[in-house]
Amino acid sequence: MKKRERNASLAQSISGELRCPHCHESMEVKDLKSLVCINNHTFDFAKQGYVNMLKKPVNTQYDDALFDSRERIISDVDLYGPIHDRIAEIIMKKSLRDGVLFDAGSGEGSHLNKILHKIDGDMLTGIGLDISKEGVLMAAKNYAGYVWVVGDLANPPLAGDSCKFILNFLSPANYSEFTRILTGDGIIIKVIPGSSYLKELRNELFSSTGESEYENNDTLELMKRNVTVVSEERITYTKSLNAVGLKDLITMSPLGWHADDSQTADFIRRGDKDITVDMHIVVAVSK
Ligand SMILES: [Zn+2]
Repeated sequence: MKKRERNASLAQSISGELRCPHCHESMEVKDLKSLVCINNHTFDFAKQGYVNMLKKPVNTQYDDALFDSRERIISDVDLYGPIHDRIAEIIMKKSLRDGVLFDAGSGEGSHLNKILHKIDGDMLTGIGLDISKEGVLMAAKNYAGYVWVVGDLANPPLAGDSCKFILNFLSPANYSEFTRILTGDGIIIKVIPGSSYLKELRNELFSSTGESEYENNDTLELMKRNVTVVSEERITYTKSLNAVGLKDLITMSPLGWHADDSQTADFIRRGDKDITVDMHIVVAVSK
């Protein structure tokens, strides 16, 4: 079976959890080629195995270089390994681990892939959604066994009560949609940067731009206004990165867009630097 058919078949197994982004009616997989709703709105699976369900094309400022760097930092360097471990533990603590794990803002899919591989058994189906076609295309090329969707977080093609777990990793949230698609016993797992996250980059490259500290108060406040937080923990550690890792980290970081080129090159050239990862893992349920 080709990749397109394999992924279409996986989507078929959870088609009851999907809905049409145009008319919000139910969908089914037709001929292992397309997702079609009862009003005949049709979305074809690409040969790489993903499906584009945006109502109209969107240009994002993310490019292949950013997703390549992100993939190496997450998958090869394993910069977020302890965070992935903890999220897998949180998921495995729930008694029934079947159902959908939805990664809202999955980019090139590496976080979802890392986390699902740490979970015993294979009863969860991973759905990754991102507005960037470049990111989703890379996810579909690199990681088999997931439903990869180009889509809009403000109108995700998911039915009500469809997701047992919603993962939202350093990515914007849409709480009204999260609440709609979350099952009654489902949880939202949101990862928010702590104030020391990547502080070495901040201190050495961005101290003059007013971006030397991450502020997460607004993010957390917004979350608490919209959903009920049931646990909140902070994980902080450092990991040594070589010159290649530092270059990738800067490329994938939005802060990198504002950095001074010669200063950045000098920072990378020095290599072997301990980098701080500081994250809040916040678990919430619907209000
Ligand atoms: Zn439709």
